[in-house]
Amino acid sequence: MQTEIVTITDVNAQQEELRRAGKILRGGGLVAFPTETVYGLGANGLDAEACARIYEAKGRPSDNPLILHVADRAMIAAIAAEVTPIAEKLIAAFMPGPITLIMKRKDIVPDRITGGLDTVGIRMPEHPVARAMIRAAGVPVAAPSANISGRPSPTTAASVLRDMAGRIPMILDGGACHFGVESTIVDCTGPVATILRPGAITREMLTEVLGGCRLDPAIVGAKVVPKAPGMKYKHYAPKAPLTLLEGDPKGMPAAFRRTVRRLQQEGHTVGVLASREVVTALQDLVPQELLADYGPQGDLLTIAAHIYEELIAFNDTPADVLLGEGTTDKGLGLAIMNRLHKASGFHSLRI
Ligand code: AMP
Ligand code: MG
Repeated sequence: MQTEIVTITDVNAQQEELRRAGKILRGGGLVAFPTETVYGLGANGLDAEACARIYEAKGRPSDNPLILHVADRAMIAAIAAEVTPIAEKLIAAFMPGPITLIMKRKDIVPDRITGGLDTVGIRMPEHPVARAMIRAAGVPVAAPSANISGRPSPTTAASVLRDMAGRIPMILDGGACHFGVESTIVDCTGPVATILRPGAITREMLTEVLGGCRLDPAIVGAKVVPKAPGMKYKHYAPKAPLTLLEGDPKGMPAAFRRTVRRLQQEGHTVGVLASREVVTALQDLVPQELLADYGPQGDLLTIAAHIYEELIAFNDTPADVLLGEGTTDKGLGLAIMNRLHKASGFHSLRI
């Protein structure tokens, strides 16, 4: 199958292209599309056979449920059996935006996409291309990240193409994604909201709106089975093993120099994913193509937007070990550290 890339710069002027994407989706085909978090791989969310094609294209385990993407409240009403008071508050505060709410599902939602659960994840993206595409499809669009399972999520159309070339008919290119990490997932079915996956809607923002919320223990620990089925799988992993250095940002440049030297003496080709401060301090030790600058220390928006693309880029280098720099776990840092911990298989050194 030939994969067509359609660049969308103006949703109003490009209705014809969006109509074509909508037609592919209604016909049971797959379309990759940009959102404010990462690129999604979409199918008609009410068509079990179309959704089966997502699992096939990604090599995704069948018990890992898909999130349904909607354009408006009416679409939520069509698929959610119950919108709890917690869900109402979060819809009012954060939708559209980078958040997914777990709600009880209606029977119209196929078993195939929920992995047999009686709940469904619902997200209303803010990205204009995603919204226009869902409207053009006229149905909720089931979409996981548009990567082969286990690899880092794509945040550019070029990265989608690397994984999906020949597997899907169309990629909508809307440029680089703003946040760069997947949506915050919040379980709204219980008496207290529970974060199942941290994202750009932070724990602090949720607490302010709800008065309180819980973190699924699996977010911070390696040995707990997570409540979001997909979070138990190996994720976001580059090909070379990644180790994180965590601790005081001021001590990072020296800690990296020490650790890089040691690994090089052991014969390793070391790649580094770190802050501008650390990368600057390594100029004489590490060749340029093995140094990935994810942004200034503490600039969490910039760091989140870059980590996946930088991890993907290491796959084209001779690096046989990777060292990454940890961030704070406050605010958006919780999402960044969750992804880095998973990418590293929870392999960290305290400095
Ligand atoms: P992805 O679409 O690849 O970003 O992954 C979607 C994530 O949402 C996975 O970790 C799923 O396990 C999780 N998820 C989707 N639906 C549900 C649900 N009904 N209950 C709990 N987690 C869910
Ligand atoms: Mg994913």
